[in-house]
Amino acid sequence: MSKGLVKFDEERCKGCELCISVCPVKILTLHETRINSKGYRPACVTDVSKCIGCANCAVMCPDGAISVYNEAEMSSTSLKRTDVRKFSTAENFLRMRYKEEQGGRKDE
Ligand code: SF4
Ligand code: SF4
Repeated sequence: MSKGLVKFDEERCKGCELCISVCPVKILTLHETRINSKGYRPACVTDVSKCIGCANCAVMCPDGAISVYNEAEMSSTSLKRTDVRKFSTAENFLRMRYKEEQGGRKDE
């Protein structure tokens, strides 16, 4: 079972391949046949079962085109989208990381 779910907003993608370059398990690629309205081949995932949910791709994407859902927080009985931690943008992801690193410190 995968540990992460990756979703792309294909219309925001400009095919820069930055996400592809930072995926540690090499499961991202540009779509073979699909072209978005801007004329780019959008990024896509080839084998989501290998995704480790690291969110490197979402952090790297300059256009906020990637959402990573951390499957660790989904229970087998409740797979509601609203229950899934979402790193919809790099900003959200970095904010989460910051909070974890601060360990609850209140000196911001
Ligand atoms: S979350 Fe990590 S493992 Fe999954 S596709 Fe993105 S970079 Fe690759
Ligand atoms: S980093 Fe973002 S814009 Fe670039 S190819 Fe990946 S999804 Fe598309």
